Amino acid sequence: MTTTRFAPSPTGYLHVGGARTALYSWLYAKKTGGDFVLRIEDTDLERSTQASVDAIMDGMNWLNLDWDQGPIFQTDRFDRYKEVIAQLLESGHAYRCYCTPEEVEAMREEAMAKGENPRYNGMWRDRTDYPADKPFVIRFKNPLDGSVVIEDIVKGRIEIGNSELDDLIIARSDGSPTYNLTVVVDDWDMGITHVVRGDDHVNNTPRQINILAALGAPLPHYAHIPMILGDDGKRLSKRHGAVSVMQYRDDGYLPEALLNYLVRLGWSHGDQEIFSREEMIELFDLTGCNRAPSAFNTDKLVWVNQHYMKTLDAEYVAEHLAWHMADQGINIDQGPALADVVKVQAERVKTLKEMAQISRYFYEEYSEFDAKAAKKHLRGVAKEPLTLVQSKLAALTQWNAENIHAAINGTAEELQVGMGKVGMPLRVAATGAGNSPSLDVTLELLEQAQVVARIDKALAFIAEREANA
Ligand code: GLU
Repeated sequence: MTTTRFAPSPTGYLHVGGARTALYSWLYAKKTGGDFVLRIEDTDLERSTQASVDAIMDGMNWLNLDWDQGPIFQTDRFDRYKEVIAQLLESGHAYRCYCTPEEVEAMREEAMAKGENPRYNGMWRDRTDYPADKPFVIRFKNPLDGSVVIEDIVKGRIEIGNSELDDLIIARSDGSPTYNLTVVVDDWDMGITHVVRGDDHVNNTPRQINILAALGAPLPHYAHIPMILGDDGKRLSKRHGAVSVMQYRDDGYLPEALLNYLVRLGWSHGDQEIFSREEMIELFDLTGCNRAPSAFNTDKLVWVNQHYMKTLDAEYVAEHLAWHMADQGINIDQGPALADVVKVQAERVKTLKEMAQISRYFYEEYSEFDAKAAKKHLRGVAKEPLTLVQSKLAALTQWNAENIHAAINGTAEELQVGMGKVGMPLRVAATGAGNSPSLDVTLELLEQAQVVARIDKALAFIAEREANA
């Protein structure tokens, strides 16, 4: 059975690069009917925080990437790491090193002076004359000869000579295990069959393979995913704007849109752009991942977001819109069903945040007219059409788009003016501004009495303006 994992270090929020790695790992598990493990690599006690653990899980939950096992915290597993370190010492695959930091530094400098990579020279590899009461670290006895071959599912064959790898510290002088040791023990114990992770870890892989081999553990398959770049070709970072998954929620993207965008960022299936969750699971394969890094493209994310706002069930989109309404302090207890607002606004915006911004007038009285729209449309000439359309609207016994449409039409006909001469002042009266979906459906979502009262407000504005002229 397949088992994959996502193994974030809780030292910040869940960023889009991590989310994509998690997604690929999750998809591969789902696709193969396997398990997806969430493992929190929190052994760096100084940098790991509970807030970050929460933020990572919030991001995963928001994206609906559920885990079958976990969260497993590495800090709960120190005993097990100690046990494995002892086992490696016992079997002669690890040794105590009593070098001082100064000695190690001197070795590194010596190597560099010879034009080699800085490395530890193996000084304590075969010694047993241990000094008493001196601090020591434990190093892995890396093989001296031969090479490590990784048949990386994404990057292809990678071969590293053992001569390029020095003897890695697996336990610090306080006995605490280091990153490469904990990853190896966990991948082994958790039966990870496929390690899907960012290619910033590719240099660790040969070391991890050597340790796994020393333990007699089975080797997982590796898939190293190239990084995400910003639009300037540099590694995606805060400089480029939002990088945290939850920032994308705050900015008004649907989780479906971000997931769909991320799955395509570095993976393709023909020229298909839109993938439902089920389709992603069915069609995704690690072998289809790009070898080259991909550049983040916000315009495309916006396009995908628009697609989902328009095509997902309006009730569902409304649940996400509700979050933004609350975020913007708009009380939706009174007023139209949010799903109906989604239906009329989805075509008109890039994000749910914008949708909330332009839907306020459905739930709240606007405090003042948009200055530009009022200046243009709430003028003396608008008095007559507004008054007439108001009386027609007030007289309707059934408040629906069709009747509203007829009232507006009837007004224009009776006064022998174009529709715009009625419609624009009415729009500004009803919404406070000059932009809205078509008037009949906009008004239908408001209440009849509310529309009549707002027309009064517009007429009062015109009267005041004339008085001040
Ligand atoms: N904890 C590592 C990180 O956050 C990932 C380790 C791994 O995937 O092997 O970068």
